Amino acid sequence: MTGPGDFKPATVELIWERDGGRCALCGVGLNRPLRGVLWSVHHREDRGMGGVKRARPGRAQPRAYLALAANGVALCGSGTTGCHGDVTNEKVPDHLGFTVSRIGIRRPVDVPIRHYLHGWVLLDNDGGFSPVEEPDAGELAA
Ligand SMILES: [Zn+2]
Repeated sequence: MTGPGDFKPATVELIWERDGGRCALCGVGLNRPLRGVLWSVHHREDRGMGGVKRARPGRAQPRAYLALAANGVALCGSGTTGCHGDVTNEKVPDHLGFTVSRIGIRRPVDVPIRHYLHGWVLLDNDGGFSPVEEPDAGELAA
């Protein structure tokens, strides 16, 4: 059972293939069947309190792109362990692109990420990516 904002199996497949079965941050090989135990798909832009399930009439519509491939990267560990834990706990510099601000103007497809396999890229929602120049950290902070 997947809810709004959760990655559907087909999307997890796209992410797994794009990330080469490795953690997108540290590159460690992941054991496919052990998703949820040894690795997980990280939401770059998080779903916030209660996720998109909390959307009510008259409030903002669910942000469907949160469940698409550009918003997900395979990371070792869980929300509290491994690279996923490090990203969640803000131990990974923001400019590496593993987190996308919910209140910023840029969405996940617009924010470059330093991917272990692919280098600096923009991710798309079809499981693809395009190379970009390494962003200037000062420019991103502005
Ligand atoms: Zn890792």
